[in-house]
Amino acid sequence: MIVGWNLPRHDDQYEDLMKQSQMLIPTLREAPADAEVVSHKLMLRAGMIRKSAAGIYTFLPLALRVLGKIERIIREEMERDGAQEVLLPIVMPAELWKETGRWDYYGKELLRFKDRGDREFCLGPTHEEAITDLVRQNVNSYRQLPLNLFQIQTKFRDEIRPRFGLMRGREFLMKDGYSFHVDEEDAKKTYWLMYEAYQRIFQRCGLVFRPVEAMTGAIGGSLSHEFQVLAKSGEDPVLTCSSCDYAANVEKAALRPLPEAAEEKPQSGRFQKVATPGVTSVEEVARFLQVKPEQLAKILIYETEKGPVAALIRGDRELVPAKLQFVSGANRLEMASNKTIEDELKSSVGFTGPVGLKIPLYVDYEIAALRDFVTGANERDYHLKGVNLGDFAVTAFADLRRVQAGDACPNCETGKYEEHRGIEVGQVFFLGTKYSQAMQAKFLDAQGQERIMVMGCYGIGVSRSAAAAIEQNHDENGIIWPYPLAPFHFHLLSLNINDAAVQETSRELYQKLTEQGLEVLWDDRDESPGVKFKDSDLLGIPYRIVVGAKGLKEGLFEMKSRKTGEVQKIPPKDLLQQVLQIHVREQK
Ligand code: ATP
Ligand code: MG
Repeated sequence: MIVGWNLPRHDDQYEDLMKQSQMLIPTLREAPADAEVVSHKLMLRAGMIRKSAAGIYTFLPLALRVLGKIERIIREEMERDGAQEVLLPIVMPAELWKETGRWDYYGKELLRFKDRGDREFCLGPTHEEAITDLVRQNVNSYRQLPLNLFQIQTKFRDEIRPRFGLMRGREFLMKDGYSFHVDEEDAKKTYWLMYEAYQRIFQRCGLVFRPVEAMTGAIGGSLSHEFQVLAKSGEDPVLTCSSCDYAANVEKAALRPLPEAAEEKPQSGRFQKVATPGVTSVEEVARFLQVKPEQLAKILIYETEKGPVAALIRGDRELVPAKLQFVSGANRLEMASNKTIEDELKSSVGFTGPVGLKIPLYVDYEIAALRDFVTGANERDYHLKGVNLGDFAVTAFADLRRVQAGDACPNCETGKYEEHRGIEVGQVFFLGTKYSQAMQAKFLDAQGQERIMVMGCYGIGVSRSAAAAIEQNHDENGIIWPYPLAPFHFHLLSLNINDAAVQETSRELYQKLTEQGLEVLWDDRDESPGVKFKDSDLLGIPYRIVVGAKGLKEGLFEMKSRKTGEVQKIPPKDLLQQVLQIHVREQK
C-alpha cells in the first residue's frame, strides 16, 4: 500500500482516499488532439497526467501510485545488490560541469541559469559530476570501496522535441545510480550485477524487453547496454540477429569489415571532371550521370572540438554520426556549416568530395569494395567520375553506416539483421575513469598508493517505464495494467449506489478487502452503469468486482479480468478466498 510514511492514519479519511467519488481522477471521453501515442492519450483520458508546458506534466494520484510501484521494485532490486539510496540536488553549480568539460559539450539540453549573485547553475539532466564530487570529498580509502549509490529524482533536459507525453518529457522521473571501484575488474563485476538487476526490475514490471548493446555517447566510457521495451511506437530502432543473440541499437549495430580493403593495391589517376550544373543530391547526380546511387561515394563533413572531419559512405547509405564520433575520438560532433565548407575547406556545398580534401577522412568499409566511383569535385557544378581509393588520403577505414534489415550479423556465420522498434527504459554504462580522472576522485590502495577510482553508471526512466507499460498493455477501451504496476488491484463497482443494500454490501466488501492489504478503488459515484464500466475499462485496474441489485438477488458477485475478459460469478462466502488467491498468484 502506498501511503506517506509515518503519516497519521485517520481511518475514515484513509477510506475516503480510495473512494472514486472523492479521488481526483478526471477522466475524459476524448484525448486532446496533440496526443499522438497510445500511452499519452490514455494517461490523459484516464486522468493520470495533465500538461503544464511542453514536456512538463503534473502527475495526478493514479499516476503517482503507478510511479510508486515502479520505484518500489527498483529500490528492492537495487538494495538487493547493496546499492544505497541518496538524494542529490537538482540544481548544480557550473563549476562542477566545467571540471569535466561538459559545460561546453552538453549542448542546449542542459538548462542553464544564473542566481541573484550572478553565479551560473544548471538543472541536473544526469548526475555524474555531483556524485563524483560527493564521493571524492568523503571517500579516500580502498576500504570504503566499492560504493554503489542511487537516487530517484526529477531530471530536466531541455529536449529539442519533447513529445509523446511521459515518453520524451523535459521534466521526468529517473533512477540514476553510480558505482565507484578500486579497479576495472571490480567495476565490471558491478556492471554485470546491475545488468542482472535491471533484468529483474523490468521482468517484475511485467514488460517485454531486450537488453541491447549501445554506444556510450556523450556520457563516455566503453561498455554499455540499453534496455529496450519492444513496441511499435518506440522511437529507437533495435537490431537483432535472426540466429544468434546479438542485439544492438542503431548506433552500435556493427557490420563486418569488407576484406578487400587491405588486399589490393588501389587504383589512382583515372578520374575525369564532369560538369553537373546545379545537380547536388545523390539521386539527382546518379540520374544525371546515369549511374546507380551505390556507384556514388558521398561525403559528410562534421565539426569537432579538434576541427572538421569527414566521413565517406556509399551514396545509398546513411551515416551514423555516433560511429564517426567514436572513430574520430571527438567529444563534440556537429554538422559543419556552409561557411566551414566554403571558407575553411575551399570546397562548394553540394559538390564536396574526398580528392584533395585536407582534413581527417574516415572511409566506410563498403567504399573499399567500390571501383571507379563518382564523388564531388570540391568545385561548384562539378563532380569526378572514375575515382578510386588511391586518389585520396584515407585516415582510417571504419564501420560508419547504418545497418539495415538483411545485413549480415557480425557475430555469427549465418544470421541476418532484423529491425524492430524499442522504447529505451534503462541504460547501464561502464564509465572507466572518464569522470573520476577529470575530477580527481582518488583513493589510497592497500599499499598506500594514490589511485583514481573506476566508475559505472546506471539509469532507469521511471516515468517513461510507466508509459512503456501502457504502450505494451492496452486495447481500444483503455489501459490493461500489468498487476505489479496497477494503481489498484481491484476495482469495486457499485452499480446503483442509491440502493441501500448495494451500498451496504459494497462498503462491507471494500472494508474486508482493504483489511487484507489489497488495493481497492471503490467506484461509489452516483453514475450510470454504462459510465462506470467505460471508466473502469479506461483505468485498466486488473480485476473488476461488480455489486448490483440483480447480483445481490441471485446471491452472486461478478468478477471480470481486464486482461482476459473472463467473467466469474462468485457467491459472497467464497469471494475473499478467491480474491486472495488471485493476489498471491499475480504477485509471483
Ligand atoms: P534517449 O536516447 O531516449 O534520449 P538517453 O539515452 O539520453 O535517452 P540516458 O541518459 O540513458 O537517456 O537516461 C537514462 C534513462 O532515462 C533512459 O534510459 C530513459 O529511460 C530515461 N529518459 C531519458 N531521457 C528522457 C526523457 N526526455 N523523458 C523521459 N525519460 C527519459
Ligand atoms: Mg540512454
